[in-house]
Amino acid sequence: PGHNAAIPAEAVQEWDNEHFVHPWESIGTADADRTIAARAEGIYLYDPDGKKYIDGPGGMWCVQIGYGRREMADAIAEQTMRLPYTSPWAFAAEPSALLAKRIAEMAPGDLNSVFFTTGGSSAVDSAIRFVQFYNNMKGRPEKKIVIGREKGYHGSTYLAASVTGKERTKSRLDFEDRLVRLIGNVNPYVRPEGMSVEDWCDAKVNELEQAILDAGPENVGAFIAEPVLASGGVIVPPPGYHKRTLEVCRKYDVLYISDEVVTGFGRLGHWFASEDVFGITPDIITCAKGLTSGYLPMGAMILSDRLWNDISADDREHIMFSNGYTYSGHPVCAAAALKNIEIFEREGILEHVREITPHFQERLNALGRHEIIGDTRGVGLIGCVEGVAAPGTPESKRLAIDTEFGARVDEKCEDMGLIVRPLINQCVFSPPLIITLDEVDQMFDILETAVQQVQ
Ligand code: PLP
Repeated sequence: PGHNAAIPAEAVQEWDNEHFVHPWESIGTADADRTIAARAEGIYLYDPDGKKYIDGPGGMWCVQIGYGRREMADAIAEQTMRLPYTSPWAFAAEPSALLAKRIAEMAPGDLNSVFFTTGGSSAVDSAIRFVQFYNNMKGRPEKKIVIGREKGYHGSTYLAASVTGKERTKSRLDFEDRLVRLIGNVNPYVRPEGMSVEDWCDAKVNELEQAILDAGPENVGAFIAEPVLASGGVIVPPPGYHKRTLEVCRKYDVLYISDEVVTGFGRLGHWFASEDVFGITPDIITCAKGLTSGYLPMGAMILSDRLWNDISADDREHIMFSNGYTYSGHPVCAAAALKNIEIFEREGILEHVREITPHFQERLNALGRHEIIGDTRGVGLIGCVEGVAAPGTPESKRLAIDTEFGARVDEKCEDMGLIVRPLINQCVFSPPLIITLDEVDQMFDILETAVQQVQ
């Protein structure tokens, strides 16, 4: 159902194998015969044969309100007919101005200035460029180093990839050492045997401070951090970490960029996680994904008034922040985002997430009783199960990584109608936020069976 019967699925697969370069593709898997997503409804995807799958990753952590919303299609169509495009250099437009106002209202503290981008990577790129611009304006052009973290993911533009801390990212190129410093993994699961979580937190906060001191505070412009490291394996930093790292940044006049591309727009039951979940007001927030629930591409960076107003009156008059995209604030994307927000509010989606989170996390944690599972972790509607090669003592659980775990669980789950996101020795989940309690159970029942089958 839903598949264009005039085009056989085999042809789609062949064109895809031959010509479509997928993100993060290994040359060797270019002809991997991917499952074809033919259509989608609610939390479900359907392949060309009509087989139904629960979309465990919610697209790519983005399809918050679920698929197949007629109102979204109507809002997009209506704006397309009224004004499909206008130059953000020359004009103001109603949907983008209203969306900027709405985001400013939702964002923590004095984060009131919104710069729209085409996605998360370009939001991160813009944030880093703003930090550089800001420090140039403040007469300290050397203050440009950005500190990122191992396992952090911030996107695929040159700058965003440079501050990304994934081992297999060879795309940081020569930025490291010059303008980027990466500090270690914050995951409490990998702390040394016998160390308390409190001591781990101390160590991680000190590591940030030491990195600033090593580079020289006068050279460090910003610290970039996801509130929860998402594609690095759903890493929730230890309690207190967010507040204390912000304090370290304040102490050395280092700006704090909170990358909320995944955690923003409801994933943790709030518009933004920085303030409502972790109690901090960063200087800059980047967001994307859930902003339009994936219906159209859009991202944003949100700047605090403190930064905006800190640029002297003279410079304000004469010097531009020369950063902008043809599609900054695209009216059709903005209309989609506004409708998405309206649906969130009307259906009480934030409240729903907060309500079902305990059950989601309970089912996730229950998987930890299987020998093959080394760790389960999550927050809000994000979760991760991590497999181990040598079940046994806690020590061996930490050290032995089963690199095939993700792929094996993925295969079993797909047979049973659940899409998961395999990440080497882990599988992560971030289902559409409209998932019901029953559907959460269905998802974890399948996962549990898959885990039993692969052990
Ligand atoms: N930042 C974070 C935290 C992300 O998870 C991602 C994408 O997964 C990005 C930035 C990049 O966003 P995009 O893929 O929309 O460019």
